[in-house]
Amino acid sequence: MKGKLIIVSGPSGIGKDTIVSEYLKRNNAYKSVSCTSRPMREGDIPDKTYHFITKEEFEEKIKNGELLEYTIYNHNYYGTLKNTLDEKLNNGIDVIMIIEVEGEANIKKIYPDSVSIFLLPPSMDVLKERLIKRGNVSLEDIEDRLETAKKEIEVSTRYDYNIVNDDLNMAVEELEKIVQKEKTE
Ligand code: 5GP
Repeated sequence: MKGKLIIVSGPSGIGKDTIVSEYLKRNNAYKSVSCTSRPMREGDIPDKTYHFITKEEFEEKIKNGELLEYTIYNHNYYGTLKNTLDEKLNNGIDVIMIIEVEGEANIKKIYPDSVSIFLLPPSMDVLKERLIKRGNVSLEDIEDRLETAKKEIEVSTRYDYNIVNDDLNMAVEELEKIVQKEKTE
């Protein structure tokens, strides 16, 4: 049996990485590693968080047709390399990918059997608070992220499932239930 492709999206600050890493501790799945031209942040691990490459290297990959999909987000390139997903899926391994909304639309077209999940904040005020707490960003940047978040949330209805991330444990359990359900259908 093929593995399940799980697509997770959500606005900046929602806790996508935390939920996914908690899911990975409790379940057998592979996290797809994207390429990005964005600078490394504290806590990033090269080739685990992302394959960090330069803008020029990224553009070379686009030119050579090496990417399954890509986008520009916050002035940086992000994309999934071809073959990242198929090898695992064909070997029966579930693959979880954290991508933004444009990438989700592209991946859904290529993998119609995938399951897409959008993580929602309990409210915009809570999201703003989480972004402020995370630190390292200016108020202007936070306002920018909140504007992007609003646009992302508008398209969240097209996702297969929405999960409100109020409590980490409950959100992870909900994700587990969704994947189990999808795998038995
Ligand atoms: P961050 O810089 O915070 O790690 O990621 C910024 C945004 O890029 C997030 O919404 C993340 O889900 C998205 N992203 C990460 N990798 C990919 C990818 O390979 N393709 C697309 N389309 N989006 C990605």
